[in-house]
Amino acid sequence: MHSTTKYLGGHSDVVGGAVVTNDGDLRERLFFLRNSAGAVPGAFDAWLTLRGLKTLAVRMERHCDNAERIAAMLQSHPKVSRVYYPGLAEHPGHEVAAKQMRRFGGMVSFDHADGEEAALAAADGTSLFILAESLGGVESLIEHPGRMTHASVAGSLLQVPAELVRLSVGIEDAEDLVDDLKRALG
Ligand SMILES: *Cc1c(COP(=O)(O)O)cnc(C)c1O
Repeated sequence: MHSTTKYLGGHSDVVGGAVVTNDGDLRERLFFLRNSAGAVPGAFDAWLTLRGLKTLAVRMERHCDNAERIAAMLQSHPKVSRVYYPGLAEHPGHEVAAKQMRRFGGMVSFDHADGEEAALAAADGTSLFILAESLGGVESLIEHPGRMTHASVAGSLLQVPAELVRLSVGIEDAEDLVDDLKRALG
């Protein structure tokens, strides 16, 4: 089961999903449900998703290249206390990720060493990374999960650190992205 909203579509302009099976009976049942419940995408949505799919492979290579560059820069940055990227050997999920994936995607998060206010300022201080909640598109996005995507899990086991900043690394020039982040971190 895939969200096609993220990398598959990849241009932040369509929402959708896909269920894929090699089981003929299950396919029949799913087809019946889709047909009778009517949860089908519009023709233009389907066209946008198919158009995105044509460049999925090259986009993913670039997302991964850029995310690796940024994770490495953040790891050695004095204003960053921790980097979360499954491609890093010290990430707790690295072994599982390495078994399941050839590369590690475009999502990178980090803790700002100076706490919540500094994290907010960094998220608000980039010019190439756009402040927004989504992910998996060609454009780079930055956000503060504690106040934005993960505000609803505050006080639960899923609560995220207040100094956390999340990046969805896009396919722009890697050097430009690195410079933009360095400027925002000061
Ligand atoms: C992820 C996302 C959604 C939800 O899409 P799903 O396919 O259900 O994951 C909706 N809107 C935006 C802007 C998103 O980034």
